[in-house]
Parts: sequence; C-alpha cells; structure tokens
Amino acid sequence: MSKPKETLNPFEIARTQIDRAGKKLNLDAGMLEILKNPRRELTVHFPVKMDDGTVKVFTGYRVQYNDAVGPFKGGIRYHWNVSLDEVRALSCWMTWKCAVMGIPYGGAKGGVICNPKEMSKDELEHMTRRYASEISIIIGPEKDIPAPDVYTDGQTMAWIMDTISMAKGFAVPGVVTGKPLAIGGSLGRDEATSRGLMYAVREAAKKTKLTLKGATVAVQGFGNVGMHFARLMHDEQGSKIVAVTDSKGGIFSEKGFDPKEVLAFKEKTGSVVGFPGTKPVSNEEVLELEVDILAPCALEGVLTSENAPRVKAKIIGEGANGPTTPEADDIFHKRGIVLIPDILANGGGVTVSYFEWVQNLSEFFWTKSDVDQKLEGVMVGAFNRVWDMREAKKVDTRQAAYMVAINRGPLHAPPDERGLPHGRLEDGHRVEVRDLARKRHARPLILPRGQRPGSMTEELRAEHETNEPGVFAS
Ligand code: NAD
Repeated sequence: MSKPKETLNPFEIARTQIDRAGKKLNLDAGMLEILKNPRRELTVHFPVKMDDGTVKVFTGYRVQYNDAVGPFKGGIRYHWNVSLDEVRALSCWMTWKCAVMGIPYGGAKGGVICNPKEMSKDELEHMTRRYASEISIIIGPEKDIPAPDVYTDGQTMAWIMDTISMAKGFAVPGVVTGKPLAIGGSLGRDEATSRGLMYAVREAAKKTKLTLKGATVAVQGFGNVGMHFARLMHDEQGSKIVAVTDSKGGIFSEKGFDPKEVLAFKEKTGSVVGFPGTKPVSNEEVLELEVDILAPCALEGVLTSENAPRVKAKIIGEGANGPTTPEADDIFHKRGIVLIPDILANGGGVTVSYFEWVQNLSEFFWTKSDVDQKLEGVMVGAFNRVWDMREAKKVDTRQAAYMVAINRGPLHAPPDERGLPHGRLEDGHRVEVRDLARKRHARPLILPRGQRPGSMTEELRAEHETNEPGVFAS
C-alpha cells in the first residue's frame, strides 16, 4: 500500500473537521479557536514495579476537552501508540459525540503508553491503580468519568473505581462507567456501542433502501465493538458476516459465518486467524472487499485518500473513532457511499455509560430491555437529526453531524446556561436527571449495612436480571 498524501495526525484531522463544519455554520474565528482547543491536559509519569522486580516508568495522559454542559466523559486507552495528540483528538470527538447524542456530558479521554499484551494481570493492575491515583486529582462522578477503550475493559474500570474509593473511604461507583455489574455496572453496557452502531446502520439502510437480511458485512477489529456488532448484525438483522479481522490478521468466507463461533475460536487460539472454512484476509484488504456494509472497529486513520477509491461498501459505519481522513470523506461523499461518522455511529457506548452513571447516582437499576429501548430512542433521534441536516444543507454526513453538535452543543450554550448539569434531552428527562444528581450529592452517606451506593444484593440482582421493573438497590 502506498503512503497516503494527507496527514494521519488524529488531532489535526479533528481540527480540520471542526474547521469544515465551522465554515458551513459561519462561526467567528474566536469561537472556532475555542472549539479547536482542549480545556485541560494532564501528563503523568509514574513508576510501576514489574513482576521481575524491576521498576518501569510509564507515561499517561488525561485530556479534558470541554465540560460546558456536564462533566467530562471519555474512555481510557492502553496502547503502545498512545500520544498526546491522539488523546486530544479522542477527547475532542467525545465532546461532539455527547452533543450529537444529546447527553449532558462534555468530552475527555485518557491513555497510557504501554503494551498490555506483554504485561501480566498483576502488572496491569499495578499500572492501572497508579495511573488512577495520578489522575484522581481531576476525575470524579461530578467532574470527569472514564470508561473502557482499546485494550481496557470492565476489570480496568473496577480497579480504577476501587483505587478512588479507597482514597475516599467509601464506594464511588459513579467515577467510572463500563464497570462489572456486581459493582454498579449497567446491563447492556458491554454491547452498547455495537447495538447503537447496529441501530445507526439499520436507519441508514432504510434511507438507502438496502435490505439488511442477507446483506454482506465486513468488520475490521474483532474486539469489544467489532465482535458485538458482527454478532448483533448476524443474530438480529440476519445479515451475512463475510469477513472479520484482529491485530494478527483476518478471515473471509463468501458463505458467511457465525461470529459467536469465531469468538469461541478466538478465545481458544488468541486470534480469528485460521477459523475453519475461511480464507485469510489482511487488515488492508478487508476495507476493500465487495460488501454492503463495512465497519472499521479498530483504530484511527485506516481509510485514506489512497484506499478510499477502492472501497466498495454501500454503507460505512464507524465503530472506531477517527478511522477516516477528511480527504477520504470527500471521496466517499462524491462516490455516494453513505458514511455514518464515529461521533454518531459509536455514540451508543457513551449513551449507555450515561445511563449507567444515572443509575449509579439514583441508585435505581434498569432492566436490559429498559436500556436497549432508551438507547434505540437516543440513537434513532440522533441519526434523524444528522440525516435531516445532511439533506437540508447538502453536506456529507460527518459535516452534518458536526453541525448538529456545534449547534446543539456545549460552546454554543449561552454563558448563563454553562456549568449546569443539564443536557439536550427532553425537558422532563433533563429535570429528572438534575434532581437525581442533587439528591445523590445531598444525601448522607449512611447506607444499610453491607450495601454500597450502586451495589445490589444478590436477591435484587436476580430479580433485576429477569427483566422485572427496576428496583432500588439501597
Ligand atoms: P478492543 O481493545 O476491545 O478491540 C480492538 C480490536 O482491534 C481488537 O480485536 C484488536 O485485535 C484489533 N486491532 C488492534 N490493532 C489493530 C490493527 N492495527 N489492525 C486491525 N485490528 C487491530 O477495543 P474496542 O473497545 O472494541 O475499541 C475499538 C474502537 O472503537 C476504538 O477506536 C475505540 O475508540 C472505539 N470505541 C469504543 C467504544 C467502547 O465502548 N469500547 C465506544 C466508542 C468507540
């Protein structure tokens, strides 16, 4: 593959995207400058004792982009390529994502430069706890709420929650989302990004008259987002999953396969590569397959001006953050390919993170069908807002999403509205959330013995999981 002509620096890409939408909205230069810069950046260097007794110093970041309509919110990534610019870009995209989805959060992101694949569980725990302690000065349920991202998961969030809770002297479940259920996680959070992506693809298919039953799907990145997306498209839409990849390579089968069987195979062997009855496909080739739907669900900068002319999919759903460069966006738009941009397509994750936080603050837990139904409502609403903007302004879907975000979003809020924990939800819902947050912070921290905020007894959990109406945990 020859080198793309454009920049692959994710923060430069994010700033170009803001410029493009800002121009369409006739934003003044000062406002554009505000939109293009993060509010706060923290870099930390911290020592960790490794299993062999040596001490290694890791570098991590937490970038808080904007909190005009609510606390900062965004995942934490563990990857050897993490950089300050990548974290800045991801925090910027989080800001627009929350605004597009209409949830009362700003944007943030964190990352640690490390290779989690070469670290033991103990080393990962020690690194996570030390990183959590370093960033504890700026995170908290009412300030900034991390969640999982690439190579972090529910276990990582549990370690962070515990580290923060130890320092406080009481359990603080609202400090992170994407937690395990037992310590205050939400039903449906593990698959939420993918379920949201499925709803967005379904809506795009309706607009483009594509039948999802039997439609072919290729997924780059068979991790949390990619795997659940493939599974949901297969099980709930009857689509044919013909290709998936992971960091080691990929598989292709014209006949299609069941992603659940591929997952079982990956759990045994460590990769999708070699799944019986499939041919190998590379991470570059998967993007150019003759399919109806392409879902890049791994990392940034994979769709560029170099390969965009060869992409054959009718719909691209960006499960990953930042997979497409602005130059590739232009090519897809000209070629009539419908691209559902990351800040809309993968917004289901932060939406259910928000639901988890609301459940933690209110100490009232929802059923899986409550979560899915509310998520569907938020996704379809956001999709239609973006689609209507695209049609009205004759722009591509990414620009439309940015225009919706900037119009509805944080920095356009008049100063007298800034800082209030309100969002762009229906009025009734907004008031309810604000009241819940007030109640949570005002109530004394005296709880029945053996119960913690956000935790559930086994009995209540069992009732809860049978989809009975929600119950108060404490
Ligand atoms: P993950 O760690 O669970 O999965 C990442 C997958 O990508 C793995 O299968 C890995 O093997 C694969 N991968 C890594 N490097 C690759 C490479 N160079 N080429 C191809 N595949 C590669 O991470 P995730 O949580 O599924 O996140 C994936 C993407 O989705 C990221 O861009 C992330 O920011 C975005 N995202 C995640 C969430 C969430 O809720 N987890 C929400 C919104 C957006």
